[in-house]
Amino acid sequence: MAKNVILFIGDGMGLSQISAAIYNQPGFSLERFPVIGFQSTAAADDLITDSAAAATAMATGQKTRNNAIGVDTLLQPLTTIFDVAKGQEMATGVLVTSTLVHATPAAFLAHQSSRSLYEQIASDFAASDVDMLIGGGRQYFDRRSSDDRVLTGELKARGVAVYDYFSNDIFRLNPKTETPFIYFTADNQPLPAFQGRDYLPAATELAINYLGKRSPQGFFLLVEGSQIDWSCHANQPESFFSEMEDFDQALKVALDFALRDKNTLVVVTADHETGGMALNPGSKHRRLSLAFTTNGHTGSMVPVFALGPGCELFRGIYENTAIFEKLKKVLESKEP
Ligand SMILES: [Zn+2]
Repeated sequence: MAKNVILFIGDGMGLSQISAAIYNQPGFSLERFPVIGFQSTAAADDLITDSAAAATAMATGQKTRNNAIGVDTLLQPLTTIFDVAKGQEMATGVLVTSTLVHATPAAFLAHQSSRSLYEQIASDFAASDVDMLIGGGRQYFDRRSSDDRVLTGELKARGVAVYDYFSNDIFRLNPKTETPFIYFTADNQPLPAFQGRDYLPAATELAINYLGKRSPQGFFLLVEGSQIDWSCHANQPESFFSEMEDFDQALKVALDFALRDKNTLVVVTADHETGGMALNPGSKHRRLSLAFTTNGHTGSMVPVFALGPGCELFRGIYENTAIFEKLKKVLESKEP
C-alpha cells in the first residue's frame, strides 16, 4: 500500500471542533479528504478517556486504563506502531506542540504506568530508536529530580544531534540525513499559537524532507496539534481557533506532499473530544457562538479522515484500537 504514513492527531478535536473550524474559515484541509470514519474512544476502565489511554489504544491496539502510557491494564509494555514501522526499516518521527513527554506522543514511544512520570518517559524516549523528535520539554531530559542523568549528553554520545530553540532557528534547521536528531521547541511547554508559537507547519515540512531521505523503506511520522485540547479545557474559543488554524496549516503541508508523492497515506483523527463543545443558536459563519458543557473530555466518537494508498481501510465505525490494526496492515503490506 503506502510507502509513507503520516498520522495527525488533533488532541481534543471532535466533530464540533471540526465544524467550528470549517464554518469559521472555509477551505479547511480536512474538506479535501475522500475517506471518513468514526472511532469510539473509550478507555478500558472509563467511557470517558484521557489522552494517555486513547493514544495507547491507537499506538498499540490495546485498550488500557486512563493515565497508562504504552502499557496494558496489567502495566505490561505493549508493541507500538513505531515498533512495527522500525520492523519494516522505516524512518520514524514525532512532532508535537506540547512537551515530547506529554501523554499522546509518550504512548507511541514510552511504557510507563502513569502519564505524569515525565522523566521516566524522557528516559524511554532517549532509549528508543526513533529518528526524529521535535517538541518541548528539554527540562525532563536534562534537569531531572529523579536521577542525575543528562539525557541530551547521552544522546549526543550515541551520535544523536541535539538542537533547541535557543541556539537553532527551526525555520532554518537543516539536519543531516545520516544522523538522528532531537529539537526542543521549549524548555517546558511550547507557547499557545495565539501567543506566537508558529513552528508546526514549517516543522512538518522539515520532518517530511528529513524522514523522506532517511530510509528507502519510507517513513512513519506522528504530528500532534496538542493544544487544541488545552484551549477546549479552558473553554477559550479564540485560542481554540488559532490552534485549529495552526493544525490546518501543518495538515496542508502534508496533504500537498501526499498528493504530489502519491505514495503517502495521511490519516487525521483525535484521541477524544474536549469541552463538550456546541455551536449554539445565533451562530453565523465566521461569527460562531461556541459553548462548552465541561472543562474535561467527553465520550463522543471522533472522526477519522484518510487520504492516499490504503485510505479505504479507515471507512466505517470502529474502536480506537482499530487505528493500530489498520496502520499495521498498511505498514506490513508495502510494495517490496
Ligand atoms: Zn485533555
